[in-house]
Amino acid sequence: MLQDQEAHAAEMERTFIAIKPDGVQRGLISEIISRFERKGFKLVAIKIMTPSKEFAQKHYDDLKERPFFNGLCEFLSSGPVIAMVWEGEGVIKYGRKLIGATDPQKSEPGTIRGDLAVVVGRNIIHGSDGPETAKNEINLWFKPQELMAAKPLTTEAIALTE
Ligand code: UDP
Ligand code: MG
Repeated sequence: MLQDQEAHAAEMERTFIAIKPDGVQRGLISEIISRFERKGFKLVAIKIMTPSKEFAQKHYDDLKERPFFNGLCEFLSSGPVIAMVWEGEGVIKYGRKLIGATDPQKSEPGTIRGDLAVVVGRNIIHGSDGPETAKNEINLWFKPQELMAAKPLTTEAIALTE
C-alpha cells in the first residue's frame, strides 16, 4: 500500500503555487484555493509563512537582473504568504492558465488575475512556469516530509475496506 502511494506520488505532476501578501491581505485565500480545488487538482502541501528578503531573492533568482527585482522581493517578504503544492495531470501548465497572464491588464476574465487583480506589481499569486522550476520551487519552500503522498479517490475514501 505504501509502495503504491509512493509510486503514484513519483509519477504525478506537481506545481508550486503561492498566494502573495496582497492576496492574503485582501482575503482571497479561500477564493484562490477553491479555484484549484474545484478544477480537480489535489492539495498536497500548504503552509503560511513570511519569507525573509533573502528567501524571496532565492525564489526569484532568475529575475535578479530585472529592474523590478528589489521591489518584488521586498514585497514578497512584506507579509504572510500561503505556500502550496498542487498535484494533478497537467497541473503546471493548467495552473498557469487558471492564474492568467503576468500583467492583470492582459489576463483574461475568468482567470484569477483577470478577475481579482489590477496591476502587475500586485498580481496576488505565483505559479511555477515549467517542470524544472516547479521541482526547484517545491524543494525551496518545502521539506519532503511536508508533502502528502496523495492518491486518487477510491472506494477506500468512502467505505471501510479490509
Ligand atoms: N513583475 C513586476 N513587473 C514586471 C514583471 C513582473 O512587478 O514588469 C512581478 C510580478 O509580480 C510577477 C513577478 O514579478 O508576478 C514575477 O515575474 P514573472 O515574469 O516570473 O511573472 P509570473 O511568472 O508571476 O507570471
Ligand atoms: Mg514566473
